[in-house]
Amino acid sequence: MSATIIDGKAFAAKVRAQVAEHVARLKEEQGITPGLAVVLVGEDPASQVYVRSKGKQTVEVGMNSYEHKLEADTSEEDLLALISRLNNDPSVHGILVQLPLPGHLNSDLVINSIDPAKDVDGFHISNVGLLGTGQKSMVPCTPLGCLMMLRDHHGSLSGMNAVVVGRSNIVGKPMAQLLLGDSCTVTIAHSRTKDLAAVCQGADILVAAVGRPEMIPGDWVKPGATVIDVGINRIQHPENPEKTKLVGDVDYASCAEVAGAITPVPGGVGPMTIACLLANTLTACCRANGLAEPEGLTA
Ligand code: NDP
Repeated sequence: MSATIIDGKAFAAKVRAQVAEHVARLKEEQGITPGLAVVLVGEDPASQVYVRSKGKQTVEVGMNSYEHKLEADTSEEDLLALISRLNNDPSVHGILVQLPLPGHLNSDLVINSIDPAKDVDGFHISNVGLLGTGQKSMVPCTPLGCLMMLRDHHGSLSGMNAVVVGRSNIVGKPMAQLLLGDSCTVTIAHSRTKDLAAVCQGADILVAAVGRPEMIPGDWVKPGATVIDVGINRIQHPENPEKTKLVGDVDYASCAEVAGAITPVPGGVGPMTIACLLANTLTACCRANGLAEPEGLTA
């Protein structure tokens, strides 16, 4: 294997330490403690794990964590009323509604009821528009984490050819906007893209956000390219059918032979997502109080 491994776990720990240091200073100098409210509706097991993990890491960096667990049959009216209370609560600087929501709730309506300044997931339509027009916004956590790792690895991304495979609103599209903001030449590929192999082979930076286990093989990767694997897929363990294992959207073994740098799964993009959620909460808190934003933790 020739590629440098981009260690997302170590990088995320560094980001959390930076956040913790800034939070400690905010408390000491301004008497302000950033607060993150997480709203979970229903009992989806994966969502429960994420929410627990978010709450734990929020407290570890010195912020206040407010968890709101609602019954699966909570009405839209009650959920919107809770969000309105959180919007008006000055001790809450970030609000995250864990997705997916139960089917009877309109996710767009719910997300767009969050105060955009507290929308630490960056999914509110105002933040989407601000990002798309190159203005200061709250940036979705997963693409922000990818951007931070790319900047850390390369310094400037200016002029690089970037290919993002996947056009979802939470990963692919904001990732492409961020890369464009850093002056990459950006191509967004998706399920209808013709000759995806050739498109990928032109990439200096290849971001895979597809949701298909190990779909991208090494011979789609340009020698020396940087591969960011956003995918998290649980598959049957190849050596032990009773067990499962996590793999990304790229075939790690063959891609690592060709790439210049690559993020592993697990331990790549995944840990950066929660670290960026904490960074966004800190940013939101600084903005709400008219204070300087933390350096290196925003887009
Ligand atoms: P979505 O299912 O919303 O989007 C997948 C995208 O991949 C779509 O745009 C789709 O194209 C495209 N696609 C599907 N099949 C192909 C194909 N054969 N060739 C080319 N493109 C294809 O997924 P998400 O963006 O939400 O997530 C992507 C992956 O990232 C998942 O594995 C998810 O688990 C992971 N993820 C990881 C996070 C982390 O913290 N590390 C956070 C969020 C997601 P089309 O639009 O044409 O259908």
